[in-house]
Amino acid sequence: MKKYYLLTPGPTPIPEAAREIMAEPIIHHRTREFQDILREVIEGLKYVFQTKNEILLFASSGTGAMEASVANLLSPGDKALVIRGGKFGERWGEITQAYGIETIFIDLTWGEAVEPRRIAESLKSNPDIKAVFITHCETSTGVVSDVKAIAEAVNSTEAVLVVDAISSLASIPLRADEWQVDVVVSGSQKGLMTPPGLAFVSVSPKAWEMIEKSTLPKYYFSFKEARKAQGKDSTPWTPAVTLVLALKESLQMIKDEGLEKVFLRQRRLSEATRMAAKALGLKLLAPKAAAISVTAIKLPEGIDGNVLVKNLKRRHGISIAGGQAQLKGKIIRIAHMGYIKQFELLEAISALEKELAELGHKVESGVGRKAAEEALLSNGGKR
Ligand SMILES: *Cc1c(COP(=O)(O)O)cnc(C)c1O
Repeated sequence: MKKYYLLTPGPTPIPEAAREIMAEPIIHHRTREFQDILREVIEGLKYVFQTKNEILLFASSGTGAMEASVANLLSPGDKALVIRGGKFGERWGEITQAYGIETIFIDLTWGEAVEPRRIAESLKSNPDIKAVFITHCETSTGVVSDVKAIAEAVNSTEAVLVVDAISSLASIPLRADEWQVDVVVSGSQKGLMTPPGLAFVSVSPKAWEMIEKSTLPKYYFSFKEARKAQGKDSTPWTPAVTLVLALKESLQMIKDEGLEKVFLRQRRLSEATRMAAKALGLKLLAPKAAAISVTAIKLPEGIDGNVLVKNLKRRHGISIAGGQAQLKGKIIRIAHMGYIKQFELLEAISALEKELAELGHKVESGVGRKAAEEALLSNGGKR
């Protein structure tokens, strides 16, 4: 008998209620019924984004909303600042450059977080920067950045701050209004426990002013068109009806649990994972800035991460992620976001121990799981 455990940083497991509603007969989107659902979903997203700003919804994966942010905010000749410390920071730069935007980079060693001071300095020496693009949780390295301090640095300038919160939303606190983050981008398939295919952006009044003046080409992803339609609880084009229905259920679960409790639950899982890694003699890739939505663990010399990840899937039905690009084969990444229970994490850690031993990493059997269990208990964690 096979049973699968999905502990990857997207997609994440889908709760039963969300799965079931997707099997219902499709409804038409130009109806009061769907309009009410859309309005409820946008309200639920505002709760999770912790904002009163408008939130626009698109039918795409998260990258679509990243690209849309560039195309809707900027104009030819504009300058942007991109923080590049992993795959997703690189993606911001690839998008700005694809649109011909002059891009200044702050390059980081993978596994390091940006010092907000460096952003302030860059803005000072380049006062014509129009937008700063950062990644809240750099999923490729498991690094979290200090969005609050970065927002402080950006808010005293003319520039807008755009945060990729695709792997942090509903996992790591991001207080959009309190911290005055102009644009927050996210997607459905991570902390929001919904299949891939929906993307969202929250937009501040300061960002709307820039959008009004933006002349880069855009059509399907026009923020102005989306805002106009959503003002009537509608969308400019056919929405991904089925995914919106699923998202409504998942958002309800987040509301029922309470956002702060959702954060706490994931913090516990990440702490337990870190304790397990330590007990197994493994080091974190980002010990100083480890995110609570995904933990990146370095593998000892001689252990091939690609083989480890394959063996976990094939022999135990457990999906975790390996490393990307320069970290391929060198790290593993275990996600804590969304609908993951403590026992699933413990199962994954047990299996990880076995497969590490199989590949020649000598550890006393059971120490990883025991360390994780102790961490969960000491945190008053319930199974
Ligand atoms: C998953 C992820 C994305 C990519 O989103 P897609 O949905 O694959 O387009 C972008 N940024 C971060 C930080 C992510 O974790």
